[in-house]
Order: sequence, then C-alpha cells, then structure tokens
Amino acid sequence: MASNLPAATGFLAEVRQDGGRAVEPVFAALGDRDRRRERTDDQVLHTVLVHSGTPDGARARTRGGTLVFAGELYNRDELIRLLPGGALPGGDAALVAALFAAYDVHVFRLLNGRFAALIADSGRAVLATDHAGTVPLYVSVAPGRVLAATEAKALRTAPRGRPLSAPPVRRLPGTHQVPAGGVLDIAVATGACLTHRTWTPPLARRIMPEAEAVDTVRRTLERAVVSRTGRGTPLVVLSGGIDSSTVAALAARRSLPPIDTVSMGTDEADEFPQARVVARHIGSAHREVTIPTEELLSRLPHTVWAAECLDPDVVEYLLPLTALYLRLPRTTDGGRRILTGYGADIPLGGMHRESRLPQLDTAVCHDMSTFDGLNELAPNLSGVTGHWSTHPYWDRDVLDVLVSLEAGLKRRHGRDKWVLRAAMDDVLPHEVVVRPKLGVHEGSGTTSSFSRLLRDAGVPQDLVRRAKRLVVQEMFDHVVVEGRHPDEVAADAVVERVTGRLVPGARPVPQ
Ligand code: ATP
Ligand code: MG
Repeated sequence: MASNLPAATGFLAEVRQDGGRAVEPVFAALGDRDRRRERTDDQVLHTVLVHSGTPDGARARTRGGTLVFAGELYNRDELIRLLPGGALPGGDAALVAALFAAYDVHVFRLLNGRFAALIADSGRAVLATDHAGTVPLYVSVAPGRVLAATEAKALRTAPRGRPLSAPPVRRLPGTHQVPAGGVLDIAVATGACLTHRTWTPPLARRIMPEAEAVDTVRRTLERAVVSRTGRGTPLVVLSGGIDSSTVAALAARRSLPPIDTVSMGTDEADEFPQARVVARHIGSAHREVTIPTEELLSRLPHTVWAAECLDPDVVEYLLPLTALYLRLPRTTDGGRRILTGYGADIPLGGMHRESRLPQLDTAVCHDMSTFDGLNELAPNLSGVTGHWSTHPYWDRDVLDVLVSLEAGLKRRHGRDKWVLRAAMDDVLPHEVVVRPKLGVHEGSGTTSSFSRLLRDAGVPQDLVRRAKRLVVQEMFDHVVVEGRHPDEVAADAVVERVTGRLVPGARPVPQ
C-alpha cells in the first residue's frame, strides 16, 4: 500500500571494503525493516531501512554506487527544474541522486527538507543531514569501514571508530553525530574525512516595513505547511498557543475534509479550553487525551530513547509529546503524518520573555548556535509508534526569514512573537492571536511533576536541576549505550539511585 509517509524514516548503513558481518540493527523507530547487501565498485554496502511499505523509494543508484535517504524534501518543484529537460525522477532519493551527478556534495546546499542521507559512491561514503539536522545521523569510521545510522544506539556494538572533527556521543567511543547542515565526505579506504557546511543560521538582520514582514512570514509559513501536509488528512498536535494554532489553521485552509487535531493534558494541568477554541474555529475533528502524571513520568526513559538527548530541559519539553504519541497507536492504515508548532520560539525568541531588543537578539543568536545535537525535532519521538512528525517553523526558508528579521519585529507593540501574531490576525480568533506563551512543559505540568518526583525522593530544592541532569544521563546510559528497551527501565528506580548518589542517606519524603 502506498504510504503517506516518507519512503524511509531511518536507516543503518555499513560501507566496507572487506565485506564482513553486518552490525545488528537496533532502532526506537517503529516500521518494517528492509535489509539489503550490494556490491559497489570495490566495496560492500549493507543497509537496513526503517520503512512503511515502499523502501525502494528510499534508495537510488548514483553513477558509482547507491544513495539511501530517510525523510523527505519540501522543495521538489524547484529541484526538478535543475534537471536537464526538467526530467521527473521517482522519489526524493532518485531526485537527490540525479542532482548528485551534477553537483556532487554541493547538492545538499540545494535541499530544503527533513532528512538524513548516505551515498556510497566510488570509494567514498558521503553523509549528510538537512540544514538543521532534524533527522539525527551518527557515524563511526575506521580505515576500510564506515558505519552510519539515524540512531546512535544502532552503533553501540560497532568496533571502535577513529576520532573525527564532529561531536562525540557520550560513552560510545568513536561514535560521532553528523553536524546540522553538515556533510562528511569520507574516503573509505583511509577513513580521511572532509567536512562541508551546507547551512548556517543567518547573522545579519533584515529591516522591513511591518506590512512586508507580516506578509513574508505568512506566505513562507503557508508554503511550509502545504508542502508538509501530504495526501491524507494531516494531524496537528494542538495546544491552543499561537504556534500550533497557526499551523492547524493554515493546514485546515488547504484541506477539504476537516483536519484532525489532538491536545494532551495531565491530571494536573491542561490547555484543553484554549485548544477547543481553535479547533471549533477551524472546524477540525478534535480529540483530548488526558495522561495521568504517573504515566507521564514513566515515559522519561522512552523520551531519552527516542530523542537520544542529554539535555534535561529539552527532555522536559519532549516528554509530554512522547507520552501523547505513545497514546496514538498506529492503525491498520499505517502511521500518521503529524504537524507540530514546535520550535517557533527559537528564531523568534519567544521563550525568553525578554522585552529589550539587544537581549532578545542575543537570546536568538545563542539558541540558534546551540540547538545542534539536542535532537528536539527528531522524528523518532512520534516514530516510536510509527508516525512521522514534521515541523513547519524549521523549514529552511521559514527559519531563514524568522531568524533574520530584526528584533523589533519580533517584540513590538508590547507583544512577543509580534510578527507571527500579526500574520495570523485575520485567520485566528483575537484571543488566540494575543494569548501569552505557555511552554508545553508548563501547560502539561511536566516540569513541576518531575521536580516533585525528585523532591519526594529526598532531593533538596537546590539540587533538583542537577538531579534532573543525572537522571537523564543514567537513562541515556541504559537505553542508548546499553541498548535496553525503555519498558525495562523504571524511572523511579533511576531517581532513587541518583538521589542516593547525590544525597547519601536521603530518606524519601512520606506521601
Ligand atoms: P506558544 O509557544 O505560544 O505557547 P504553542 O503552545 O503552540 O505556542 P509550545 O508551547 O512551544 O507552542 O509547544 C510546542 C509544540 O508542542 C506546540 O506548537 C504543539 O504542536 C505541541 N504542543 C504543546 N502543548 C501541547 C498539548 N498540550 N497538546 C498537544 N500538543 C502540544
Ligand atoms: Mg504553548
């Protein structure tokens, strides 16, 4: 059955000169597995694709080898115009392979997408992420062998790789993460590696009249939403905040049948009334999912497993979404295409509640130079139940526009994210347009319930932040480094051990 999802959502690939035994694949991402072994020139390529029915669309022949591609492109129309006679190759992998023949590694500067790719071609292994590394990609390199995978845990049993000038992965010596907007061009025989950058966050700021800025943001976002909605009915994870309400409203305007929206809350907090206002306004088929706090916290290991993230703040943002995705099992029709409003605050400085322009732009610069490796946008969060998520605010063109607007367009007339709010003024109810930001970790009570879990275990308030970091690290060690399934890792047992290390002799607070 043709799926509405990308041809592949993950892969493990091994390029070797000596053949040898393939590494056993371990993925958090749910999907069918397609295993292939092929000879290209003087090397052997083993691949395992995670897919949902059409794995052939995720592979393509290059002149001297093979390309594997997990994810999708959002500027196919532009790219096709670059081919001789506007020839139309099949899937996204075929399109990239055709352009590789003309542009070589520089093809990756042309792409607006959400993907990780590997090309094994004439003694080289070329690895690439999209502009923002939204599909994480890991690599381990030794002379005569290159191993790459969209999950670090898939490389945990790989023989130790050589050092590379890419960030190392905690406790997996010789495993590195391919930088966001980066291409590694590796000579397989020697392991020598050249790094190219394909994207970097803009540093210059654009000055525009209000109306022009508002119109540019609206048009760019509309295009990003439309290119992500696919053929079926999209599902938008909706809080009722301006970011996700914008995505839902723009998707609903382009869809004939009503789109689906879903909101999560816990037994402690939710944004259900706010989301309902939006759902009613855009006419979506809306659902509410209430997750008990105990269940929410039990999903901490699953969140770390899916995102392979060590940052406790980011894990708190991702935890409610992971818990929600785990409540949305795949149906017989397959996984859903999910749109989110995630990430709008980073280029717009929305998280910082900062009204002074220099400080606002400093925050934007800081966040845009430190996002790499946090895996906030990783597809595996929804991938654990076989869905494919995509984030219009981190579309390459949207990001270029939002980052580069001068700070006075982001904070204006006393409002944060002003330009976005103004762009949606005629589409959303006024109360939604002016609603103050509430982070997903706040609206679901996640931050407070995680803190309470630690305090109840005996961690004093001033050590709670440190304890959260240690809890996340220990979970990472279990589910990534040791390759355990998160169902086997009890969050409260980890909390107890961390508390014991941090506060020897601590007594749990009686309930
Ligand atoms: P704002 O930043 O103004 O609050 P927002 O709520 O849409 O807007 P975030 O709070 O940054 O954005 O949350 C990130 C994304 O996570 C949202 O855009 C939405 O897609 C998803 N999300 C957040 N809270 C919920 C929720 N309670 N239920 C479902 N999805 C949510
Ligand atoms: Mg919010």
